[in-house]
Amino acid sequence: LASRQNQAANSVITVHDIQIGTHSPTIIAGPCSVESLDQIVELAKEIQAAGAQMLRGGAFKPRSSPYSFQGLGDRGLYYLAEARKVSGLPVVSEIMEASQLDTACDTIDVIQIGARNMQNYSLLKAVGRTDKPVLLKRGFSCTIEEWLMSAEYILSEGNQQVILCERGIRTFETATRNTLDLSAVPVVKERSHLPILVDPSHGTGVARYVPSMSMAALAAGCDGLLIEVHSHPEKAASDGQQTITPAELKLLIDKINLFCKIE
Ligand code: PEP
Ligand code: MN
Repeated sequence: LASRQNQAANSVITVHDIQIGTHSPTIIAGPCSVESLDQIVELAKEIQAAGAQMLRGGAFKPRSSPYSFQGLGDRGLYYLAEARKVSGLPVVSEIMEASQLDTACDTIDVIQIGARNMQNYSLLKAVGRTDKPVLLKRGFSCTIEEWLMSAEYILSEGNQQVILCERGIRTFETATRNTLDLSAVPVVKERSHLPILVDPSHGTGVARYVPSMSMAALAAGCDGLLIEVHSHPEKAASDGQQTITPAELKLLIDKINLFCKIE
């Protein structure tokens, strides 16, 4: 079902008035973690003013250490719903297990499946039985074929609204947190009709590399970007080192708009 042979035309995923997979790129921005109601509401307004179309924020956080901040859980999802009410921006958030789906379906617009859960097949089947668009991140040790098979798990349960997201893979290189595999973009475009986003924040792990890799990802032909943004990255509860400010996001989106017009 995910394959280009099965469907020649690009899939377009509609989230309210936003269409992912059309010619103009979709910019999804927000903090790694939802930290408080004030934080997410204020940030939603700032990223909207910067020109982003959708808000991201983690409520359930798959942290490498069990002692790191684990996210606000359900409360984080309610805060995201409030931020959407205030800003009008649709929201994306990760769920880590099927038991979190009920609240997620009531509060958010797009369900994110994180890199660590890309091959959690029971979770994939569960989101495949919902009617919510699913943002499926690539596992950091998974091939493109395995990633497309994970998309297939969701599609085969009936949910056709899958958005892929390249977020960097593990290689021998240590200068960046992950190696952002931009060649995945043309490969996925050739093999599948599903839209593909790129996450330059997790892809590099370094805030100052985010603008250049964003431009490179768009040049490679992706359908949009997932970018971590925080008003005070140095104070962020998670992933501050790879997080840009709303002002930096605005500069980047202005540049993207220029680039897309030239094209
Ligand atoms: C995230 O988007 O904050 C996240 C945890 O991403 P990934 O699953 O790609 O590590
Ligand atoms: Mn993060």
